[in-house]
This record gives sequence, C-alpha cells and structure tokens, in this order.
Amino acid sequence: MRARATWIHVDVMDGHFVPNLTIGPVVIRAMRKVSSQLFFDTHLMIDKPLKFAPAFAEAGAQLITIHQETVGSVRHAVQKIRGLGVMAGVSIKPRTSVSAIEPYLDCVDSVLVMTVEPGFGGQDLIPSTLNKVRRLALLREERKLAFHIEVDGGITPETAPLAAAAGANVLVAGSYVFAGGQVKDNIDRLYASIDSPLNSHGILPRE
Ligand code: ZN
Repeated sequence: MRARATWIHVDVMDGHFVPNLTIGPVVIRAMRKVSSQLFFDTHLMIDKPLKFAPAFAEAGAQLITIHQETVGSVRHAVQKIRGLGVMAGVSIKPRTSVSAIEPYLDCVDSVLVMTVEPGFGGQDLIPSTLNKVRRLALLREERKLAFHIEVDGGITPETAPLAAAAGANVLVAGSYVFAGGQVKDNIDRLYASIDSPLNSHGILPRE
C-alpha cells in the first residue's frame, strides 16, 4: 500500500550543532535508489553545512536546507547550494527570530521553521513558533514571493491544522507517522486533520 506523502525529509545531525547524530550522504544515496519517486528534502543540522552540501547534492538531495545559525551569510550559502543544481532552504531554531532571515527571503526556495528544539523526535510543538510562520506568510504575500514555509517538529493531527492555518504549506511529521500503527493510516489522519488543502507537496514523513 502506498502512502500519500510525496516528500521525504531527512534530518542530518552532526553531534555538534545539535546533540544527536544521524545519517550522511552515503545513506541518502542508498535511500534515493529505492525511493526515486519521492522528493528528497535534506535538513542539514550541522556545523559547516557548505563543506558537506556537495556530497548531499551528489547523493541525490533535491532541496538542501541549512541553518541560519551555522552560516555567516545566508545569501552566499544559498548561492553555493543553488550552484550545485539543487533547491536551497534556510532554517531557524525556535529562539532565532524571523528578522535574522528577512533580508534573504527573496533568494530562498524554502524556509523551515523549527517548531521544537532540534535534536530529538517526539517533542511537543512550541506554540509561539507559529507566530513566526504567520510572519513569514505575511512577508511572502507582501513581497509576492513563492518560497515554501515548512514546519518541523511536533506535528500531529492536533497541531497540523494550526500550522497550516498559520501559513505553513509543508508539514514535516516524524514521530507521529512512525510511532505505531500503519504509516499510511497515520499520514491519512494528518491529511484529514487539515481543512485547507496543502499545495501539491503535501505532508512529509520524516526519516
Ligand atoms: Zn528536519
């Protein structure tokens, strides 16, 4: 049975920028071989993301998102990533304000708002982070831009409609999707929880 999600979101952690370790380009390359229909969204929660971005692009990542907190210049980082032939996104942790990335919204394909402190799955969404989603949605409209607004962390059938109503059009769900029962049913429940239709990219399972 095929699940409805069309993106796969891969959290890459280095044990430095966040206190956990996950996977790197080698595993992504292997995943890409068996999941060629899915859009590969790669969230680099690592120091020195530009050092590793070429390897992730080479491995098959289609969107590479770096953290504002890890780069000197977001614009430079985005240009470097785009130069690899992939889409570029920027992410902010819960304590980083939207103003830190406001000057760069014209050059990004996606803005990822961390709705929990990055590092571990299974946390509750921090409600105040949705104010950032609202602010970004407003700026996107005011400036007639088209970047995705992605939320990452604590997405459940209770929080998904709140995030969508705030303006997020890409919802990353990890623990809820994989915590029990059928993955397909869990994803269907997330879709059913949202009144307004998401864009064609829909809800993402997080690996
Ligand atoms: Zn993520």
